[in-house]
Amino acid sequence: MQASEKKVVIVTGGAGFIGGNFAYQLLAEGYKVINLDALTYAGHLETLEGTAGNKNHIFVKGRIGDSALVNSLFEEHQPTAVVNFAAESHVDRSIDGPQEFIQTNVVETLSLLEVTRKNYKNYSEKQQQAFRFLHVSTDEVYGSLGETGLFTEETAYAPNSPYAASKASSDHLVRSYLHTYGVPILITNCSNNYGPYQFPEKLIPLIILNALEGKPLPIYGNGLNIRDWLYVEDHCSAIRSVLEKGRIGEKYNIGGNYEKTNIDIVKTICRLLDKVKPDPSKRLYEDLITYVDDRPGHDLRYAIDSSKIQKELGWTPAETFESGIAKTLEWYLNNLQWCNKVTDSNYDRDRLGIAL
Ligand code: NAD
Repeated sequence: MQASEKKVVIVTGGAGFIGGNFAYQLLAEGYKVINLDALTYAGHLETLEGTAGNKNHIFVKGRIGDSALVNSLFEEHQPTAVVNFAAESHVDRSIDGPQEFIQTNVVETLSLLEVTRKNYKNYSEKQQQAFRFLHVSTDEVYGSLGETGLFTEETAYAPNSPYAASKASSDHLVRSYLHTYGVPILITNCSNNYGPYQFPEKLIPLIILNALEGKPLPIYGNGLNIRDWLYVEDHCSAIRSVLEKGRIGEKYNIGGNYEKTNIDIVKTICRLLDKVKPDPSKRLYEDLITYVDDRPGHDLRYAIDSSKIQKELGWTPAETFESGIAKTLEWYLNNLQWCNKVTDSNYDRDRLGIAL
């Protein structure tokens, strides 16, 4: 890419798990990244250490709801796109305290849309043609599936947790900004991600770290809830495809087609750990599995039909579940220091989301 045609993207939530991985991909592709993140408990500059010295990466600490700040970023950098990852993202925390979820995922996303709309209006025709607002969302907006069937882009929204409801609201708001104001938007709805830099409150890193410390491996309910798992870099490459080639106003489902029960996931991690990091006392990691009370309103099954993005945009995941989980385990084993740094002051892996 020529310097003169460098694309400038505001990545919100880019110190979090998926946003951080996405920022690295954009930088590798020659984009300039304006990384706006509030650094909540889930956002960490340690995730961005690999961007040190890269002039194409500008980190800005701030909230997506700070209109004056976001406006100044538009004025200074004239972005060709906004990719919105910033969110409260953990279902269990939304059960304990939904307000933060409404604040960031709905109220502040609306504020981000408003600033985008006003600046888009002042863009030249050429800038307007190039501009995209891409909202990163989840398959949880569709609610729960029974034992069969897949979520398509036409599946009606039926969110069951405050997290899912807040994401559903923001999806609707984003959509309305095309139909009402002409802002060129795109929406992606992705299944469960795993991989490097995921905050250790989420299932896979939680299980890895607890196992290494000989702590119980908590399984909610009977462990038979099913999710469709996708390696984070594949999610990021899918978002890039949508950003570069997606049709304005469309939503695209993204999934790995790897349906797994929670208990399968945990047993897979245990077996891999038995091989690569056997417990010194010869105990099997599976012996640490402990069934605990189920999550209130726990959706039974999510599974994604991603044929639209595959057929229309030619995207396919590069990793199988087996290759992705092995890479992830290796990354956590080599980055225990990152895990300690990001959880030191704010998270002790205790149970969240019991809804007393
Ligand atoms: P994360 O919790 O790891 O990261 C969220 C980031 O947003 C953090 O860095 C946090 O500091 C930042 N943030 C929070 N509130 C903010 C605000 N008001 N202003 C600016 N920054 C703020 O989340 P994640 O897992 O990386 O998810 C990113 C996005 O992808 C979310 O929108 C989530 O709904 C969506 N998503 C996640 C998954 C998944 O499996 N993790 C799957 C599908 C979609």
